[in-house]
Amino acid sequence: MTSTQAAIKRWGAHDFRLLIDGRLVDGQPTLQVINPATEKAFATAPAASREQLDLAVSVAREAAGSWSRVPVSARRALVRGLADAIRGISEPLAELVSLEQGKTIGAARMEMVRAADSMDEIAAIDISDELLRDDQRGRVEVRYKPLGVIGAITPWNVPIALAAPKIASAIYTGNAVILKPSPFTPLATLLMGEAFAPIVPPGVLAILSGHDDLGPWMTEHPGIDKINFTGSIATGKRIMQSAAHGLKRLTLELGGNDPAIVLDDADPAVIAPKLFAGAFGLSGQVCMAIKRLYVHRSLYEPMVAELTRLARNARLGDGLEDGVELGPLQNRVQFERVLELIEEARAIPGARITAGGHALDRPGYFIAPTIIADIAEGNRIVDEEPFGPILPILVYDDIDDAVRRANATRFGLGASVWTSRPARGAEIAARLESGIAWVNHHVGTTRDMPFGGVKESGMGRQGHAIGVRSDMESQVVVLPPQVPA
Ligand code: NAD
Repeated sequence: MTSTQAAIKRWGAHDFRLLIDGRLVDGQPTLQVINPATEKAFATAPAASREQLDLAVSVAREAAGSWSRVPVSARRALVRGLADAIRGISEPLAELVSLEQGKTIGAARMEMVRAADSMDEIAAIDISDELLRDDQRGRVEVRYKPLGVIGAITPWNVPIALAAPKIASAIYTGNAVILKPSPFTPLATLLMGEAFAPIVPPGVLAILSGHDDLGPWMTEHPGIDKINFTGSIATGKRIMQSAAHGLKRLTLELGGNDPAIVLDDADPAVIAPKLFAGAFGLSGQVCMAIKRLYVHRSLYEPMVAELTRLARNARLGDGLEDGVELGPLQNRVQFERVLELIEEARAIPGARITAGGHALDRPGYFIAPTIIADIAEGNRIVDEEPFGPILPILVYDDIDDAVRRANATRFGLGASVWTSRPARGAEIAARLESGIAWVNHHVGTTRDMPFGGVKESGMGRQGHAIGVRSDMESQVVVLPPQVPA
């Protein structure tokens, strides 16, 4: 029996349960979870009913009141305890994420490190009240108070590393939180709930998996005060509409179409491996992956050649197998969408597919890493977010033109500049319209930084005091001047 077969057998027999009111409970056993490397269902997750959501919300509302009065130091200790709980089961969590998501076990292990570290980073952020002034006009304080109950909704690409900071931020700031993973990847999140159940006070955290109706039930639920969402732009807009009824607070982390600009002084051979990782890591299923590469004409052919070589040599396969660098796409819809975009690109006069351009001839949602050269804006593969292993490479002559084209989009998550002169890179990075801009790097944030998008890539930030305080409401308290005794 291979290690994958053994893992499938083990998790196929596991009894995954919802976390409500501090207890692990059954839901309807109707959520079939598919391993994208085989296209076969291997485990069943519970689907929460509307009544179970109502129960989770009502106990969360009750718990939030007393949890908000727990001192910050004790809340910080709990969040750190949750980080350690993830570390304690990081190997089973990584194996499950690899099985349900498709990513390599190495990438899944990194995800667990990031998830646990993000909780510690959040617990180190100062959320104390502020004194604005205390003088002859009076004393003015800003007090930060929790919102109440936060609904957290995550996508299928990085289930644990996106759930952990949402939970940490909500709990640390004194809220209760109800977390819903994607129906495509519910298992590791539910396993994390098993590890958290004995540590978290009842009601402060619920984890509910479910079908497509569960997310909308949450966004329209009158007992939920805020939605902290990571996912696609289209869903983000639906959530905003639904949240309008109760004027729910929102943090929206949405899709990206990140540009990377290679300046004329860069060395293609040196930067190619980092660019490749930034574009093709997790088979391109990363919100802040490089999705458009702008290369100065003087370096264009060498850059295309270096990336083509890396793409042709990448080893694809089942994420739990040794030596595999890239896994499959996570689901059939995504797989078919990416293949459609490739076929559209193939039909563009002059465009060159220099690597990949096809699915692998085996079961699973595998697409060979695809490089498309001699392509420009005005094509869907450049203008939209493919969320797959495709990189269009565009040529430019003038840096001002490259910056203008990089910014001419409704997206604005990340961006990067590649150069042998970092000071020049920093100046150009500052002109890019994005929530984060790197020099000689792309992908990766920590929660001591505020992370989020501009334009349609999102609203609000996660991490840093900016993000953490968005799980709170400010209240100004004005006191009269002290009369001298
Ligand atoms: P998605 O929007 O389809 O689903 C995300 C989550 O929302 C899932 O849990 C889903 O069940 C839920 N959902 C779907 N419809 C809903 C509705 N009407 N109301 C409430 N919840 C609903 O996204 P996906 O396909 O799972 O993920 C891929 C997308 O996520 C990409 O666009 C990617 O760029 C984006 N993403 C963004 C970030 C970021 O931090 N900016 C990180 C990862 C992924």
